[in-house]
Amino acid sequence: MRISRSILWGGGVVVVAAALFILSRVLQERDPTVLAPGPVHWHPRVEIYVDGEKQAIPAGIGLAGRHEPIHTHTEDAAQGVVHLEFPRAIREDDVRLKQFFTVWGKDIMSAFGTLERMEVNGAPSRAFGEYVMRDGDLIRLYYTTAVQSEPSATSTGG
Ligand SMILES: [Zn+2]
Repeated sequence: MRISRSILWGGGVVVVAAALFILSRVLQERDPTVLAPGPVHWHPRVEIYVDGEKQAIPAGIGLAGRHEPIHTHTEDAAQGVVHLEFPRAIREDDVRLKQFFTVWGKDIMSAFGTLERMEVNGAPSRAFGEYVMRDGDLIRLYYTTAVQSEPSATSTGG
């Protein structure tokens, strides 16, 4: 009687532990703020045009000193490839376009004059710095150095 009872207890503990483990996994997957489970290695591309002229994106952004999860590499910076490398699950706030500019030490809205318009995969977007980058995106930013009123950056659509 004593032996079977302890076996029963042990079995119960295992069942509860397994249930808790599964529950935690389900909760993590259902967490709507989690954009992707880690590890993440995404490569959106960013093209910058100033008064219609394409600008070179330097290699080594985010690699000086501390190695940032958002960075550019020598071999593909010329193509505008931005590396998003996270060892963990990511949330939208981890990979907004403005984060790339912050790592770069620039403000997206005024980095090369005034940010006039933006295209994501060929479609116009008004998300600007709030845009959540995805693997394979082609993001085009058009700046003008002509003096004019600021574009409305309050829209978070797109
Ligand atoms: Zn990479």
